[in-house]
Amino acid sequence: MTDAASRPAPPPPPVPLSRVQADTVRRGGLPPVEEVRHGVWSVAFEFGDGIDDHSLGYVVEGSDGALTVIDPGWGVDANLDRLEAALADVDHSLADVDLIAVTHLHADHLGGAEALRRASGARIALHAAEQRALGERTSDATAADADIARWGAPGHDQEALVASWGSGRHLPAVTADLLLGDGDVLPVAGRLLRALHTPGHTGGHLSFVEPEQRLVFTGDHVLPRINPGIGLGGRTGTNPLTDYLASLDRMVTLDVAGPDALEVCPGHEYRFTGLRERAEALIAHRADRSRDAAAALDALDRPTVWQVAERMSWSGGISSLHGYRLGSALAQTEWHVQALGRADELRGA
Ligand SMILES: [Zn+2]
Repeated sequence: MTDAASRPAPPPPPVPLSRVQADTVRRGGLPPVEEVRHGVWSVAFEFGDGIDDHSLGYVVEGSDGALTVIDPGWGVDANLDRLEAALADVDHSLADVDLIAVTHLHADHLGGAEALRRASGARIALHAAEQRALGERTSDATAADADIARWGAPGHDQEALVASWGSGRHLPAVTADLLLGDGDVLPVAGRLLRALHTPGHTGGHLSFVEPEQRLVFTGDHVLPRINPGIGLGGRTGTNPLTDYLASLDRMVTLDVAGPDALEVCPGHEYRFTGLRERAEALIAHRADRSRDAAAALDALDRPTVWQVAERMSWSGGISSLHGYRLGSALAQTEWHVQALGRADELRGA
């Protein structure tokens, strides 16, 4: 088996550009609104469902004064109030918002979009694959229940998996006004803000890049410390791991060295530079996981997905994972095995 302990330590996480955002990662709480550039602000949004966490959204002002909100956060009233207060501080109001550009379908990014559309009259923009996933969430959930039955997790875990990863899973129901594809320019006056299709975390995940301002909004595709989960959206018929690695490669080539390096505005944690190095570290992390999966397949005779996952290194170990996080770990395990071309070695294959 691969000895995880003998591997070189991963590189240190990128240095925060916002000290106050980095402090809230350690200490909790919400960071204040920050001006990222002239006419670009970050706003922190709290989670719903009693979860003590937050996401980062961004307000971008066009040359005509109209505002675009990238990722309006979870759909709780406090977040709309928070956005309204943030806009008032920069002499704007909710009525100035005319576009809500959403990186992906998760509740902490898309959840607040409907309420913001109602309050402002703004249009919601999503990648077409994300809209399709929202439409297919019932059939996707049924297929996920079948995955869970095949994975071979112990009984009590199976029930929790169905509730959180299978047919019990909840996604916001939203119909976008504008469907985006790779390379589309957002309708923001005076700015060349482009959508990049970066599937992996979800199948229709978008990043937004404004090269002139050296800004890239990465949603949950690239985060400074967290290793983003993969395949957490609709079923795409592709391997989310393969998609994710290709999307990370795009980040490596998108970034430039030196003073023109892109500043990353992620959906969580803190802003940073060093996109290329961070994307390379995420690629290396996936290579480690693939080696773990290969070693487990070498050691076991027709294992279940569960048995392969048990031998892979998860922070805290597989037994510390439950519900949604366990579902994500087992799905990832299967995708790593498939990407190795060894899916036929699994039990039930
Ligand atoms: Zn998120």
